[in-house]
Amino acid sequence: LYNMLQELRGNIRVFCRIRPTFNSTSRSSIEYIGEDGSVMVFDPLKPQSTRKVFQFNKVFGPKATQGDVYKETQSLIRSVVDGYNVCIFAYGQTGSGKTHTMCGPSGGSAKDNGINYMALNDLFSISSTRENVKYQINVQMVEIYNEQVRDLLCTLEIRTCTGNGQTSLPDAKMLPVGSTEDVINVMKLGEINRASSSTAMNDRSSRSHSILIVHVHGEEDSGEATHSCLYLVDLAGSERVDRSEATGDRLKEAQHINKSLSCLGDVITALAQKNSHIPYRNSKLTQLLQKSLGGNAKTLMFAHISPEIDSYAETISTLKFAQRVSTV
Ligand code: ADP
Ligand code: MG
Repeated sequence: LYNMLQELRGNIRVFCRIRPTFNSTSRSSIEYIGEDGSVMVFDPLKPQSTRKVFQFNKVFGPKATQGDVYKETQSLIRSVVDGYNVCIFAYGQTGSGKTHTMCGPSGGSAKDNGINYMALNDLFSISSTRENVKYQINVQMVEIYNEQVRDLLCTLEIRTCTGNGQTSLPDAKMLPVGSTEDVINVMKLGEINRASSSTAMNDRSSRSHSILIVHVHGEEDSGEATHSCLYLVDLAGSERVDRSEATGDRLKEAQHINKSLSCLGDVITALAQKNSHIPYRNSKLTQLLQKSLGGNAKTLMFAHISPEIDSYAETISTLKFAQRVSTV
């Protein structure tokens, strides 16, 4: 029934998550969060300005825990074992909580683990309870920086992929995982490789898209095989860069980010409107995610916002982007 309801609603869902304020005495631009998925924002510096309301499938306020967020995500993860391709994105300006949602706090405690860990653990436990089907779970981790895809797992020894391991990334290392420790090790390795390429000046993690690809191979006793993918994407920061200030590499990075995020928006909007032409080819990001967007695939986007007053313009821009791709 759940899947049937989703078919009716379309396969794109948008959740909004609001980060807690760092300073509890500062004013927030969030006026109201509704149980029905609405959020009302305003500019506290312009008290006369109009309140703006945005509507999503779900809004998580600053007090929502990682567990609260995962609870609403879990059914999508389960559908991966049923053979669906799924894509989950974190969108928002730098500092709004994308990495917190996907991975958890940096160097943080296990109890705050993000969707990546919880999803894999769930996949391990669901797949181990299915009789007559043997599952093998493999992961790849890549980043897209300036329209170039880089493998983040390339320094570990790898097992060759068997089965009908169809992938759009034949060259990226594929590692088998079977436990939480495996996943933590893979993610650590990815983070180390990612950091090693950043210069002192640039925090590359906010300027590149990081993608964890989970391949779930199932083989039934009868010999029939299934293959589905879960894409977990921590997008580059969506903030606009001041053209008058950014130059050289910084400007180039910003242009690539703007282009790929707007291509992503175009693709999801085209899918939501059931257009006949879906412009996947306009960016590396949408090319790579193609099979997890559209068709039977299910997509979930987290729009992250920062409640601080000085983030108000970016908050509005994130909410508008998210509203555009949402079909609510
Ligand atoms: P982004 O990846 O979007 O740049 P981060 O996930 O790194 O942002 O979040 C910025 C900071 O805010 C981090 O220190 C993070 O731990 C903290 N943070 C983000 N979201 C939450 C949350 N929901 N609860 C508590 N701390 C959070
Ligand atoms: Mg981040």
